Amino acid sequence: MAASPTRDDFDRYMTPNYSPQQAIPVRGEGSRLWDQADKEYIDFAGGIAVNALGHCHPALVGALTAQANKLWHLSNVYTNEPALALAKQMVERTFADKAYFCSSGGEANEAAFKLARRWAFDNFGEKKHKIISFRQAFHGRTLFTVSVGGQPKYSEGFGPIPGGIVHAEFNDLDSVRTLIDDDTCAIVVEPIQGEGGVTPATPEFMQGLRELCDRHQALLVVDEVQSGVGRSGKLYAYMHYGVTPDILTTAKALGGGFPVGAMLTTDRVAPSLAVGTHGSTYGGNALACAVGLAALTTIDTPEVLAGVERRHALFREHLEVINRKYGVFKEIRGMGLLIGAEMSDDFEGRARDILPLALEQGLMILVAGPNVLRMAPSLVIPEADIQEGMARLELAIGQLVDPS
Ligand SMILES: *Cc1c(COP(=O)(O)O)cnc(C)c1O
Repeated sequence: MAASPTRDDFDRYMTPNYSPQQAIPVRGEGSRLWDQADKEYIDFAGGIAVNALGHCHPALVGALTAQANKLWHLSNVYTNEPALALAKQMVERTFADKAYFCSSGGEANEAAFKLARRWAFDNFGEKKHKIISFRQAFHGRTLFTVSVGGQPKYSEGFGPIPGGIVHAEFNDLDSVRTLIDDDTCAIVVEPIQGEGGVTPATPEFMQGLRELCDRHQALLVVDEVQSGVGRSGKLYAYMHYGVTPDILTTAKALGGGFPVGAMLTTDRVAPSLAVGTHGSTYGGNALACAVGLAALTTIDTPEVLAGVERRHALFREHLEVINRKYGVFKEIRGMGLLIGAEMSDDFEGRARDILPLALEQGLMILVAGPNVLRMAPSLVIPEADIQEGMARLELAIGQLVDPS
């Protein structure tokens, strides 16, 4: 029998663009995971806001295995039942009239940005191509999406980058007013900046962006790759704001761990994605859409969504208790089960140091930049797992504060 893969194999065989923790998880159930040595972990990371129903949820395993025994893939020369059913469900449950499928968040945004440009081109001519996005924003890793994203470190060294993109300050309408004009085709915004530090948009900001778009005949593109599919406590975070997007992108939690992404839009905009303008080999893949439909159907219920709000309160309470003892956090923020704890001045830039300490205690957790500890657990994480995870986090923070 071949020896089991080891962490050293990562350095030996994989490109060095990641630096994973030492332990290698081999199986998971709900919000618990076990590594090669059978050590157990509580999962507050959720595969970075992906495993919205935890690991191996029966509804997802059931949908995946049923579809695996029927039909996997056809190409877009044909359509298939799971894709049609998922599109119908998404249209019925959101502002959208039409859905486009792909396999990741970056691809959903790539489609969204191309559609915004093409729609403006079709209706107003090529001069209307300016895209306004925000500093600290994250929209994916393709060259177009890192360029629209607001973190220069992700596009540095990959130039020349696409032009016609400008960046405003998040939650600052005046900074948008100085940039927007009639040549603007789209404003692109995350309702909660995820990678940028778990910062929710204010209602005035989202509503102001909608008004500015309307005044300048630009499209409002809402990137809900991280905030969508129940994460915020509503099916999509835009629903908290009383604002209707023109285009919405969704991925991560949509597949609950299976790669699937979608772009949603209206009948006013969709015609610009005419036959042949855009596509993706795997977009609408039958396995992906079958799992996506099961995830969406399971999450989009009053019980699960109310449970997200309840768990948000629990997370906050626990974090505040830890903070009263150790004073490591300056602010605890976020929506639903996307929660950020910003490090206090004494621990500035040290969020990442908590990751190995937490892992040692049996807890998986995330950061969002150098200064924010991030949690994006399963939306149905049992309360006992929250308690146990928080007890482990407290031990890890204790070690951060007093390493002796
Ligand atoms: C993760 C993320 C993306 C990129 O998604 P991928 O599936 O990694 O391509 C885009 N936008 C936001 C807001 C994200 O959080």
